[in-house]
Amino acid sequence: MSEICPKCGLPMDIHACDELAKQSVAQIRVYTTKSRYQKLVTIVEGLKGEELGSTTKELKHKLACGGTFKDGLIVLQGNHKEKTVAYLQKMGYSKDVIKLN
Ligand SMILES: [Zn+2]
Repeated sequence: MSEICPKCGLPMDIHACDELAKQSVAQIRVYTTKSRYQKLVTIVEGLKGEELGSTTKELKHKLACGGTFKDGLIVLQGNHKEKTVAYLQKMGYSKDVIKLN
């Protein structure tokens, strides 16, 4: 008997909450701005809940950079706009919802 997902009630091996969460994202904005220390940071805006933490972790790992998340924003140290967009697509986010500014 496999474990049941607390969110959707389906067995863990067939549920698709993660995929559904990705598909339900309306829009993701990716842009760079200057931090208060005048360093460039890459911002990913539009993710919420669990997606925020897990995506931050994955992007930090893939880009080999520092980063954090808060209030619906992912903040990555450095300019990683193009790579971030590419990785977000690989993670399953539709390129239609990702806006590169
Ligand atoms: Zn589920």
